[in-house]
Amino acid sequence: MKGNIIILSAPSGTGKSSIIKHLMKTRPDLDLHFSISATNRSPRKGEQHEREYYFLSDEEFRSKVEAGEFVEWQEVYDDTYYGTLMSEVKRVVDAGHTLIMDIDVMGSLDLKKRFGDDALSIFILPPSIQELEKRLHNRGTDSDDVVAMRLAKAGYEMTFAPQFDCVVVNDEFDKAAEDVADKIEAFIKK
Ligand code: 5GP
Repeated sequence: MKGNIIILSAPSGTGKSSIIKHLMKTRPDLDLHFSISATNRSPRKGEQHEREYYFLSDEEFRSKVEAGEFVEWQEVYDDTYYGTLMSEVKRVVDAGHTLIMDIDVMGSLDLKKRFGDDALSIFILPPSIQELEKRLHNRGTDSDDVVAMRLAKAGYEMTFAPQFDCVVVNDEFDKAAEDVADKIEAFIKK
């Protein structure tokens, strides 16, 4: 494989998307290219097709599953599907770049199994469940019911942390981002 694969996973609200965005901006040396997943959910305000996601209809998503175009896919929330297209992995890795993926826990474990030593899997932990609850409320994007659902899921997901190559606690943002960058750098140089 020409490029490297970095898989980042974390419970919702842990700050993994912010870490990815920050490193893409501040660490050009790592040559990070975001893996654009496909999803059947609707774009949120400010999101663009082919930038945050390939936004597909239910039908389009299903037909790609049937055609075997995904390296992995998951029903992350009820009736809401997310998946990584093989064409996306190839687009970035064959060009020799570092592919950075923001993937749910189950999908990450599948990808790690598939790519083995060609991929580095990193799990981002919140400092505590209480802190995560605070962050999810402060984010203001979800109703109380959705926050409760995300928290229950987070507790479950955190039990899988030991199956990742490494774990970083996002207590202080700059420090966590630097830790992730150090791990990526060490992996790339191997
Ligand atoms: P959101 O809807 O907030 O953008 O993302 C919801 C969740 O879907 C996040 O936990 C994110 O990591 C996960 N996700 C995004 N893309 C993929 C993907 O390609 N595969 C899997 N399994 N999960 C994904």
